[in-house]
Amino acid sequence: MHLIVAEKNISARRIAEILSEGKKLTEHKDVGVSTYSFGDTTTVGLRGHVVEIDFEPGYKNWRSEESTPRSLIDAKTIKIPTERKIVALLQKLSKRADRVTIATDFDTEGELIGKEAFELVRAVNPKVTIDRARFSAITPQELKHAFSHTTELDFALAAAGEARQSIDLMWGASLTRFISLAARRGGSNILSVGRVQTPTLGMIVDREKEIEAFVPETYWQLSLDTEKSGEQIEARHTHGRFHEKPPAELARDRTQAPLVVTDVRFGEKQDRAPSPFDTTTYIVAAARLGFSAANAMRIAEDLYMNGFISYPRTDNTVYPPSLDIEGILKTIRNSPFKKDVEWVMANRRAVPTRGKKSSTDHPPIHPTGAATRELLGDDIFRIYELVLRRFLATLAPDARWKTLKVLFDAGGEEYTATGGQLVEAGWHTVYPFSEAQETILPPFVVGEHLPLRKVTLEEKETQPPARYTQSKLIQRMEELGLGTKSTRHEVIAKLVSRKYVEGSPLRPTLVGRVVTESLEQHADMITKPDMTQTIEAHMQQIKESTRTREDVIKESRQMLHQVFDQLEANEVVIGDDIQGRTAEEMNLGTCPVCKGTLAIKHLRGNTQFIGCSRYPECTFNIGLPMAQWGFAVRTDEVCDKHHLNFVRLVRKGARPWDIGCPLCHHISSNAESLAEIPSMNDALAKKILAQHIYTVAELARSTPEALTRRLDLSPESAQKLISDAKSVLEKLRRRSECRKFMRDHLIPRKGRSYAKILTALKTAGITELSGLAHADIAMLKTAGIGEEEAAQVLNEAKTVYYGQVLKEIGIPAVSLKKYVSAGITSPEAFCSQPPGSLSKLTGMSPATVQRHVELVCTYLKKPVPKKFSKLQLERGKKELLAIKGLDKTMIEKLSRAGIINTTHLLDADAANVAAETGIMAHVIQDFQKAIQKKRDTAVIQI
Ligand SMILES: [Zn+2]
Ligand SMILES: [Zn+2]
Repeated sequence: MHLIVAEKNISARRIAEILSEGKKLTEHKDVGVSTYSFGDTTTVGLRGHVVEIDFEPGYKNWRSEESTPRSLIDAKTIKIPTERKIVALLQKLSKRADRVTIATDFDTEGELIGKEAFELVRAVNPKVTIDRARFSAITPQELKHAFSHTTELDFALAAAGEARQSIDLMWGASLTRFISLAARRGGSNILSVGRVQTPTLGMIVDREKEIEAFVPETYWQLSLDTEKSGEQIEARHTHGRFHEKPPAELARDRTQAPLVVTDVRFGEKQDRAPSPFDTTTYIVAAARLGFSAANAMRIAEDLYMNGFISYPRTDNTVYPPSLDIEGILKTIRNSPFKKDVEWVMANRRAVPTRGKKSSTDHPPIHPTGAATRELLGDDIFRIYELVLRRFLATLAPDARWKTLKVLFDAGGEEYTATGGQLVEAGWHTVYPFSEAQETILPPFVVGEHLPLRKVTLEEKETQPPARYTQSKLIQRMEELGLGTKSTRHEVIAKLVSRKYVEGSPLRPTLVGRVVTESLEQHADMITKPDMTQTIEAHMQQIKESTRTREDVIKESRQMLHQVFDQLEANEVVIGDDIQGRTAEEMNLGTCPVCKGTLAIKHLRGNTQFIGCSRYPECTFNIGLPMAQWGFAVRTDEVCDKHHLNFVRLVRKGARPWDIGCPLCHHISSNAESLAEIPSMNDALAKKILAQHIYTVAELARSTPEALTRRLDLSPESAQKLISDAKSVLEKLRRRSECRKFMRDHLIPRKGRSYAKILTALKTAGITELSGLAHADIAMLKTAGIGEEEAAQVLNEAKTVYYGQVLKEIGIPAVSLKKYVSAGITSPEAFCSQPPGSLSKLTGMSPATVQRHVELVCTYLKKPVPKKFSKLQLERGKKELLAIKGLDKTMIEKLSRAGIINTTHLLDADAANVAAETGIMAHVIQDFQKAIQKKRDTAVIQI
């Protein structure tokens, strides 16, 4: 079998579709992983990296004495499978294979992923032939060529990738641990530091400081308005910016009619067609259309996988000679851009444009297939269109502009106006994404006099440098050699998710700034791009086999040890500095109760809340959802009413959850429960808010004296309010217990919404466990729970609820367990059968059982069943069995109703017995008649 290993499932499928060429193609699913087979060939997709490197065991504990952050520098690393199912399947298939072709993406990352697959295959099949297919687009032509010209895996390239992985792990893990521990931060609150990430953050922080340090300079600009052929024309003074006001004013005052045309210069300007897209220029162009860098890359990858564009991670801006441009044009002629394609075909430039960078791995990004808007959806189609039009533009002729420069004189002062007119649109015809602004001036003649309509002197200020947009930052990173074409946008996304930077354009958060400044001060090597550039240069050497991976890693270790020398010497200073300065970022404003400071507090174990700086004197606090729902951070927005900063919960990979003003949130989320207090009304609600009482619990904790005073109530009403609050609180507790019970006992399932089930139960009047214990299966089924599960839940609810009741009554937990396992779960069951049989069922002594039964029956206000001796029971059973039609099951049922002999049965009310035992009333009446008859006969016999 020929096994083809692709980087992802979708590419495995595309490759199979293309290579099968009409042969029967079948898809198999094995342990949830698809394989595609045709003839003797099978393709399987990885999920990118299926193994990852990590430190060998023993380094998990951050606070361990032995494995300090520094110890991670020299820690041994191991490869562990991250996608076990795929690894298992790959190895299973490899055992049967006689040829394996690695067809992962064609770049350093892809080569490394390929090498990982190579090692997994070799481990189970040491002899199999393993080759490598390289292609830049998943199209029939490229694939057929690649698979008929396979080569060896490039181990040098893969080694460069491995070295980068090791170095990133070593730097990232050791520095992140060091800084987080120094600043006493843990859990989701750690401060991450990374080899590429930190210098990138450094650039954003530097830019922010430049902006802050910027002192605007005032300058003056002089212009005039004139008119020609009914058109308004503005001309500027040729001096440009005046840095002093007096000369500007002098020039303005001297500007006098007549305004005379002194020179007219015509010119022509060549407007070169743009060069082909590499990753960076593509991201910049996509950003103009409103796509973030990460989004632009995600969409491009999608388009690549589906064969619509070529591989989007490339540094190349020169089409290789092998690229079949004619073929591509023919293919995309079938797209909705037929007219544009045909225009380019008819008006092709001699040679396509070329950029500055030429490399051999991939061609520049270009279209490879025809797509439609219906097929892709709006957003993806816009990106497809961008790539396609850029390709067309690189084949289109340059544009030509006619330029016009007119000089004027007014009282000895010289002014000028310029115009530009597109005479040949060229590439602009097919590429509307760049602004080509025309300024058309009417014709002028030298010596001509024009009216002087207005002279304007404008005072302006120089502007600070602009903050980085994502695409500008990516360009800058590329210039500095920070990161790679595949990682740059991910690094930026990481900075955002780590809350180091925010907004668009990007600006640093307080933490981002504090961490950077602290590192700059004590270990500036990490914040400067130089070190990373050195490592990038080393990667290149590994690729070219002039240095080994081990050698490079060793040097990197030495560099990192130097950094740690600096860091460890300053550990306390760094920690205090970061802690002190970042505390501020959690402050929200003034405490409404005591005028202290409210701040977000993060505790261990994912607990977070808003508390007051004057705790424990002030206990005001606002609860927040657990941190796994999102880490609470402050935003810039401030509540108009409460002057508190808004709070937002952020979670990686999820939309942020805006809590808004924490106090508004607190008030509204407690309004419903406060409204449950019977004596609550609008006036009282206003009064308690004015007194900064926000929750039922606060009312319940108050004293009548305090409420009388604060709310201006009579002592009786205050007392009533407190006791009402206490019972509402208890009700709330029971409700939350019931909600928790449902969450704990219903298996989470795709498409299952607890909220929906809980709402359905609420509509049916079930909000507490007691209600649930008395519900029936049919009811639970209408709430969307399956029959079997409903029965289980019901049973559990009964056990839990009755357990609580019985505990409350005073049955010890140990005994309770014995009752439950004997099937006696409800309090009623204690009073409906003789204690003797309970004792027998549970194995507890009759005296103990008797005591429990008395407790329960007294609580239920039911008569305590009589105690019977064993002899009595035996004798009674015999009597009953003598009655015709009365069998053992019935005796059992009767005994549960406290009837153990014929006398009891005779004395009992047939209807009651029927209700308790389920035996029909007329049957019982028949038994009673039989007993009576027997007794009568006995009397006669005597
Ligand atoms: Zn307070
Ligand atoms: Zn508010």
